[in-house]
Amino acid sequence: MKKNAPDFQSLAEEQLRSSSLRTTDARIRVLATLLGARHALSHQDVQDKLVDMDRVTLYRALDGLTDAGLAHKISGDDRVFRYNAGVEETEAGHGHAHHHQHGHFKCTRCAKVFCIDNVDEKLFNTDMDSKQGNSSLTLRQQLQKILQSTLGKGFQSHEVELTIKGWCAECALQAK
Ligand SMILES: [Zn+2]
Ligand SMILES: [Zn+2]
Repeated sequence: MKKNAPDFQSLAEEQLRSSSLRTTDARIRVLATLLGARHALSHQDVQDKLVDMDRVTLYRALDGLTDAGLAHKISGDDRVFRYNAGVEETEAGHGHAHHHQHGHFKCTRCAKVFCIDNVDEKLFNTDMDSKQGNSSLTLRQQLQKILQSTLGKGFQSHEVELTIKGWCAECALQAK
């Protein structure tokens, strides 16, 4: 949990300034909304929070932020795209780019999508060549083994997407 209520507006401005994007009022507001959300937001969710923003401006802002790597797009089972801020604060407190090596949790009841940022780095260790020590295989390596044993030796995995599906805490509570 964050100790101080973060100033998402300033954080958004800061991130935009250090990106390749031009800083516009719309981008700041959209990014600040994504940064402040606990779960990923659809176009409609963002629109509901920024009611006075023109729909096209909102779409463009989301696309721009996604292209610049400040936000990322997650496709839902309901064919709705949801967006989450791509740069998040680490536990250590300094801004840290979170690329796509993170997982998602999708609630099958309310369709909310949460980013799992603290997926153990070992799970997705990209260093396939290091044979140091006798550490157990990372999940990536295990999946590579499964891939080759089922489909053939020639297959190589480059990326693994982790999505956990289930009920979010709120829905689990309601289901009781
Ligand atoms: Zn995510
Ligand atoms: Zn839910």
